[in-house]
Amino acid sequence: MNFNQNLYICITTAMSNFKEKLLLHACCGPCSTTALERLFEQYRVTVFYYNPNIAPQEEYIHRKEEAKRLVNEWHEPSNDLSFAEGNYTPEVFYEAVKGLENEPEGGARCLKCFELRLRETARIARERGFDAFCTTLTVSPHKNAQAINDIGTLIEKEAGGPVYLPSNFKKQNGYKRSIELSGRFNLYRQHYCGCLFSKNTCNKK
Ligand code: SF4
Repeated sequence: MNFNQNLYICITTAMSNFKEKLLLHACCGPCSTTALERLFEQYRVTVFYYNPNIAPQEEYIHRKEEAKRLVNEWHEPSNDLSFAEGNYTPEVFYEAVKGLENEPEGGARCLKCFELRLRETARIARERGFDAFCTTLTVSPHKNAQAINDIGTLIEKEAGGPVYLPSNFKKQNGYKRSIELSGRFNLYRQHYCGCLFSKNTCNKK
């Protein structure tokens, strides 16, 4: 018996029992990489794939399967990862962004899209007894971390918890790191943000 190894496993398990539980909203596998690497030392993370904005459905499923695969394949002594999926209800997204269909990426439609996804993440976190919630969205160079964090903080205040963990995962080369880690896990990297509007804009370029 390797006592050193056993002791190490026991210590790691004991430490992980004291970690807080974090529900991490994830838009896809590649964006989850940097966030997870920075969070799993401190938290027991559940990756929460809730993205009714993503279209078409095959694309939604493909991104979900890749995010799930990352969670299943990423084994580090200090990580304690799990995966959960939200409801895929595109009609809820289209209702939330009604009238904003022609907004450019990064505009008012995206703020509604962030809010929708963060509200549901907070609701599930509350319902399932998580200590905090957070999102991978801030790793994208195309997304305004301040705006995302303002929405998350407001949701936390309105609902009285759980705690929203503000982030800016693109800092300290976070986006570059996500590309490296995506390569390591051979993850599919999409070419458009997620909704049909962003897909159409991308196709026109
Ligand atoms: S461009 Fe991206 S963030 Fe904006 S509404 Fe579409 S999916 Fe949501």
